[in-house]
Amino acid sequence: MDLDTREWQRRDASHHLHPFTDHQQLRDKGARIITRGEGVYLIDSEGRRILDGMAGLWCVNMGYGCEELIAAAERQMRELPYYNLFFQTAHPPAIELASLLAEVTPPGFNQVFFTGSGSECNDTVLRMVRHYWACQGKPERQVIISRRNAYHGSTVAGASLGGMRGMHEQGSLPIPGIVHIDQPYHFGEGQGMSPHEFGLARARQLEQKLLELGPDKVAAFIGEPIQGAGGVIIPPESYWPEVQRICDHYGILLIADEVICGFGRTGSWFGCDTFGIRPDFMCLAKGITSGYVPLGAVMVSDRVAGVIERGGEFAHGFTYSGHPVSCAVAIANIRLMQKESIVKRVHDRIAPYLQRRWAELSALPIVGETRGKGMVAALEIVQDKHSKTRFPATAHAGLTCREFCFDNGLVMRAVGDTMIISPPLVITETEVDNLVDLARRSLELTAERLL
Ligand code: PLP
Repeated sequence: MDLDTREWQRRDASHHLHPFTDHQQLRDKGARIITRGEGVYLIDSEGRRILDGMAGLWCVNMGYGCEELIAAAERQMRELPYYNLFFQTAHPPAIELASLLAEVTPPGFNQVFFTGSGSECNDTVLRMVRHYWACQGKPERQVIISRRNAYHGSTVAGASLGGMRGMHEQGSLPIPGIVHIDQPYHFGEGQGMSPHEFGLARARQLEQKLLELGPDKVAAFIGEPIQGAGGVIIPPESYWPEVQRICDHYGILLIADEVICGFGRTGSWFGCDTFGIRPDFMCLAKGITSGYVPLGAVMVSDRVAGVIERGGEFAHGFTYSGHPVSCAVAIANIRLMQKESIVKRVHDRIAPYLQRRWAELSALPIVGETRGKGMVAALEIVQDKHSKTRFPATAHAGLTCREFCFDNGLVMRAVGDTMIISPPLVITETEVDNLVDLARRSLELTAERLL
């Protein structure tokens, strides 16, 4: 169908309820209609090229139009478009992907449970963690500790594990047995402490919560190595080692939600490699297929998998767990990453370049801080650079900047007044230059309007 923009918008408004969208605003303005993707660019229904500074939703790591992935999907659709993994059944793409994941994930991870998404990974992990403790004769170990402002998905368990207040307010969440401690957000909550002190203080909240609940009631701690949707919260260096020490000391399981950080985003294969975390579970999705088809994978450590395997039937699974087309695309995606040494390229070349150029934006009067790691970065929009005072909420500074970005041909996301980027890993230096120029222009226009 080849319709004009207004007709697409009219049909969209008539029949489509969007995720994470205010429908009143949508109906007033009409949806932005994206029709095509090419490399790191999107093309909209007006034919405009827009640099996708978010790689879709942090997922199109190998960029749009990647022939290897397209061919893998087509081949698999012809060979076996669907079969499931229930009741002692498997198929070649799931078997091959499972061993490939065991190869690229850190030592000690040799078992995978497939799902269809990141949210389903976290639902799976919640059930698996409690099942693990029940198998160990400790069914009272139920509580999972997470962080405020974490994002672990939109299913009931995912949203409960997440720490987004707005999500909890809808639908009476979190479900019982999930508690939250504060996040390691130094710019927003550092209160005059050095990053080192603040990282330790926030990690030690885990210990305080454990002692308050009773360590024998606690099953696990869950965290994103870098909180993505919460605003690219990069923890101080002191944070993860202290969390690891506490988990080890009290024998609670550690879940790394690698849905964003996995597959090269932080400059190593996994966020756990970047931060030296030794988790018991790793939740993978998004970059596993570069977003071309839906897939999630829970990596289960040998120590946990051994217990689960002896625990009888694990009564859990999804129709699309390990969908053959998704697995075939994931295999092609990971093989291509290996062939083109994408992680090395990110680590040695493009991430340092992106971070250097991004940091230049910190000179703008409206920017209170820039930060980044690998191929994610954030900046804080402020009214007063020296006191780091924010604009009043009624100014909608972040949304204003986001709109200027779109108008200028850049997708940059706003989390409150924090602007964030997570571009495809295959972005070139010239395209990084373009991204930073567009971001600068949009920030200048925001300053002109608000200051
Ligand atoms: N976990 C993290 C860290 C995420 O960023 C997301 C999505 O953004 C999810 C889980 C949920 O993944 P999905 O949207 O595939 O269910």
